[in-house]
Amino acid sequence: MHETDMTKALIFTVKDWWESQTERPQITEIHLIVGKFTCVEPVSLKFAFEVQTGNTFLEGVELVIQETPLIAFCHRCQQEYAPQVGLQYGCPECDSPMEDIRSGRELKIDRIEYIFDEANKKAYAPNI
Ligand SMILES: [Zn+2]
Repeated sequence: MHETDMTKALIFTVKDWWESQTERPQITEIHLIVGKFTCVEPVSLKFAFEVQTGNTFLEGVELVIQETPLIAFCHRCQQEYAPQVGLQYGCPECDSPMEDIRSGRELKIDRIEYIFDEANKKAYAPNI
């Protein structure tokens, strides 16, 4: 269910951008950055996207997902570490609980690729 709602929000955002363009470009790829700690399954997200975009302006658009690892920072040890999702979140050195997440919670559109004219592909990066 998580992925279904995420997809709805994603489509809404892309549609908003698309409709604001003077010449509605033909979107080819949507690149997403998804943190490991968001608990979003890339496979489920792709599936939900495919289902929800059928017969819309986004039909056939490829969803490219780049996952970012979960990285936390231990203030006692003054170093970054990679918590084990579902297993161990605390610092492996001193066992302090995870409190400062540096990476892994991202969930955003990196860029939208679309056909600018017949021969060229142009990238557009919304700040979402
Ligand atoms: Zn530590």
